[in-house]
Amino acid sequence: MRSLLLWMARNTWLRDRLPRLWFARRAVRRFMPGEDPESALAAGMQFQVAGIGSLYTRLGENLTRIDEADAVAAHYLGVMDQLRERRLDGEVSVKLTQLGFDLDIERTFGHAAGLASRAAEQGKTLWVDMEGSAYAEGTIAFYERLKAVHPNIGICLQAYLRRTAADIQRLLPLQPEIRLVKGAYAEPADIAYTTRHDVDANYLALSVAMLEAARAGTPIRIGLGTHDVRLIEQVAEHATALGLSRTSFEVQMLYGIRTDQQHRLSAAGYRVRTLIAYGEAWYPWYMRRLAERPANVLFALRQIFG
Ligand SMILES: Cc1cc2nc3c(=O)[nH]c(=O)nc-3n(C[C@H](O)[C@H](O)[C@H](O)COP(=O)(O)OP(=O)(O)OC[C@H]3O[C@@H](n4cnc5c(N)ncnc54)[C@H](O)[C@@H]3O)c2cc1C
Repeated sequence: MRSLLLWMARNTWLRDRLPRLWFARRAVRRFMPGEDPESALAAGMQFQVAGIGSLYTRLGENLTRIDEADAVAAHYLGVMDQLRERRLDGEVSVKLTQLGFDLDIERTFGHAAGLASRAAEQGKTLWVDMEGSAYAEGTIAFYERLKAVHPNIGICLQAYLRRTAADIQRLLPLQPEIRLVKGAYAEPADIAYTTRHDVDANYLALSVAMLEAARAGTPIRIGLGTHDVRLIEQVAEHATALGLSRTSFEVQMLYGIRTDQQHRLSAAGYRVRTLIAYGEAWYPWYMRRLAERPANVLFALRQIFG
């Protein structure tokens, strides 16, 4: 089921047709408050009232025309201005391919640098998502280059990739901001752990490696991008054993997933941030959300048939 859904996520024929269907638009509402940024910002305000921060991402990836990237960058600058105006504790998270990475790396760099400057004016971080493994090395090299000029950059790393332990060690000297996720794409066994047990074990080991670096004095911002509460609690236990508090890391979850846990963890003293996606190009992203939990397909069918 997971492989089929991830194949559907990459299929351009389906991507062009499925989102036009009313029932698909209805089902996706579980994971996004609306297609427009206003809905996302309004939802972020609701979370803020409950002490939960936010992250914003406009869906869309692998652009085919560079002028689309210019428009995306201008859009995010506007969103950042809105965050300041509304006094929202919100940050922006982008995919490099959404800023033109496949087409013109220098222009992408210019866009990312512009967004980082605007975020810095507000004392905030610009986050860079991690895409499929073909982009891993390019994204990390891009991060290193950008971080040399703009310290307020965060990067997402994926625990299912075998290379990530080395990538964390590589980035530690840069005083990085790292969001660790399990990984959402279909990756082969020679470069990725493929069983839940192995991915979870690596997630814990990588989290502990980052905590140990923090304990040793490396300035590092750690984001646990997972809904796996058992794993978060295990990381918290390691933090305590190292003499660190539960605020030595931040929990980041997606809008619409385990909302009850987001509130519970926040009330229990964890720092929590919810990632709110919006935009019209939601199809591949939505299919990856379905792939993460096949029960979501049943949920979607129930939405469709009332
Ligand atoms: C803030 C954030 C940013 C992310 N950014 C990236 C990125 O840049 N690149 C990338 O590859 N991946 C990214 N991801 C996705 C990530 O890689 C996982 O695919 C996703 O988080 C599901 O794995 P999990 O860690 O929640 O653990 P799982 O073991 O998959 O899930 C743990 C539990 O959480 C619940 N759950 C998890 N997913 C769902 C779902 N879709 N629907 C309903 N319940 C669910 C279930 O109860 C499940 O038992 C991001 C995730 C988050 C939270």
